[in-house]
Amino acid sequence: MVTLVGAGPGDPELITVRGKRLLSQADVVVIDRLVPRSLLAACRPDARIVDVGKSSGRGGGAQASINRLLIREAKAGRRIVRLKGGDPLVFGRGGEEALALAAAGIVCRVVPGVSSVFAVPAAAGIPVTHRGLASTVGILTGHEDEKKDRSSIRWPHVARAFDTLICLMAVKTLPSIVKQLLTQGRGSATPACVIERGTWPEQRRIIGTLGTIIQQVRKAAIQPPAILVVGEVVRLSRKLPASAALPLSGMRVLVTRSAEKATVLAERLQDLGAETETLPAIELTALPHSARFAAAVNRLHETDWVVFTSPEGIAWLVRALQRMRKDLRVLAGCHIAAIGEKTAEAVRGYGLHVDFIPKRFSQEGLLKAWPTGPKRWARAVLFCAEGSREVLSLGLRSKGYAVDKVPIYRAAIPALSKRAAGRILRQDFDAVTVTSASCVAHLKELMRAAGLSPRFSRLRFISIGPITSAAVKEAGGKVAAQAEVSTADGLIETVVAHGNQS
Ligand code: SAH
Repeated sequence: MVTLVGAGPGDPELITVRGKRLLSQADVVVIDRLVPRSLLAACRPDARIVDVGKSSGRGGGAQASINRLLIREAKAGRRIVRLKGGDPLVFGRGGEEALALAAAGIVCRVVPGVSSVFAVPAAAGIPVTHRGLASTVGILTGHEDEKKDRSSIRWPHVARAFDTLICLMAVKTLPSIVKQLLTQGRGSATPACVIERGTWPEQRRIIGTLGTIIQQVRKAAIQPPAILVVGEVVRLSRKLPASAALPLSGMRVLVTRSAEKATVLAERLQDLGAETETLPAIELTALPHSARFAAAVNRLHETDWVVFTSPEGIAWLVRALQRMRKDLRVLAGCHIAAIGEKTAEAVRGYGLHVDFIPKRFSQEGLLKAWPTGPKRWARAVLFCAEGSREVLSLGLRSKGYAVDKVPIYRAAIPALSKRAAGRILRQDFDAVTVTSASCVAHLKELMRAAGLSPRFSRLRFISIGPITSAAVKEAGGKVAAQAEVSTADGLIETVVAHGNQS
C-alpha cells in the first residue's frame, strides 16, 4: 500500500494528524526536496528513508525511476509513505505517481496537505480573498514542462480573469510572467509580493508592484521555493504582520533533554516561532536493587531528612520500594526536602508534604538555606541519580548528619539518539538548550561517536543554570547564556532574550 501524504508548506507542524500517524507507521518513506527534514523524527527508527529530492528541471527519467521504486516496494508488501511538499496533488506530480501505481494494480491513498498555495500567502500576511478586494483567485505555475514548446497557460484569459493570482515556481521565470501580465493589461502599479520559504524559519517576503518586483527580487537574491502573489490583496500585508514576526522566528534550536520533556520544550519554542530539532541526550533507567538501598530504607524510621534532588527521584523511589514490597509509608515521620519547585511538585503529586525548598534550586542552594534547629535524628538520606554530585552529602555531613547518598536511577544515552545523532548534529543551530551536566556529557559523547567532535566547541549553549554551565565549560563548550531561574520557563525566556545574538 502506498500513501501519498502532503507534508505541508515547510513548518513541520503543518502536516495533518493522519499524515503524521501514517508517517510514524511506515516501513519506507520516500521524500522530496521540499519536505522539512525535522518531520522525519516522527518516523520509526527502523524505517527506510529514501530521498528522491531533485533540483528543478529534472527530466521524466527521474520520475519514472521514482514510480518504479514505489511499485517495487509496494509489491514487496511494505507500507510506503510518499511524502510530498504542500499538497501531494498540487503541482507536484502526485497525480502521475498515483496513475502509475494504479496501472501497476497497487492501492494508492492520498492524504491531502496544507498547500503552499494558500499557506504561504497567509504566513506573509496576505488573505488571498477579501471582501471588496478579491473574490476570485487563479493559481498557476511559472515553471512549465520543458518539453512543451508553447505555453499551456492562456495568458490573455488568466491575466484578466482573476482578482488575485498565485504563481508557484516563479523565481526563474519571474521576468516572463510579469511581462505577460503587463502585456495583457495588468497595470504596473498592481501590488505584487514574492515570498521565499513561507512558513520556514528563513521566510522572507518582498512587497512591491508589477513594475518594481523583478528588480527587488533580483536585489534580494530570492531563491526557490518562492511564490508570487499579484493583486490588491497584497496591500493588506502592509497592515498584517507576517507570521515570521514571532520572537524566535528564523531561529533553529536543538533541544537535548529527555524525550518526554524535550517534546514539551520544543513545542513551546515552536509556538514562539523557532524551528526545533530534538535529540534527547538522557534516558532514565532503574538501577538494580542494592543492599545499600535496602539498608537506607530500613533505617528511615530513625532518619530526620529525606532529600530529593530531581523531580524524577520520587517516582524511582516508589518503584524501588515496590520491589521490596513496600511503599511511601516508609517515609512516615521523616522531613522532606526538595531541591526546587518542580521537584517539590512531583513529591506533592504523591500526596506528601514538602517541608523545605531552597530559594536557589541547586545542591549549594539547599545547603546554604538548610534549616537549623534541633535534630530529632542526625541522619539524612538522599535519593538521587547515579553519579550525582557530592556537594550536598559532604555539606550535610559537616553539619553533623550521618548521610546516606543512595543512587536509585541512572541517566543513559537513549539508543534512538545514537542512531539520529549523525543526521541531526551535522545541521547548524543558533542555539542548543542543555538542562543538566549529564545532558552535556552525553551530547559530547554523541558528537564524538558521530565523528563530529570539532563541532562541539562551536555550539551556542543556552544552559538551565550554573551547574550545567560549568559542565559545558569543562567539556570545552561555550555558554551563550544561562537561565536566571533554573526551570523550563526560565530557559525559554533566556532563549528569547539571548538566542538571536551571535
Ligand atoms: N505540492 C506543493 C507545490 C509543489 S511545486 C504544494 O502544494 O505546496 C513547488 C513550488 O511550490 C515551489 O517552486 C514554490 O513555488 C512553491 N512552494 C512550496 N513550498 C513553498 C514555501 N514554503 N514557500 C514558498 N513557496 C513554496
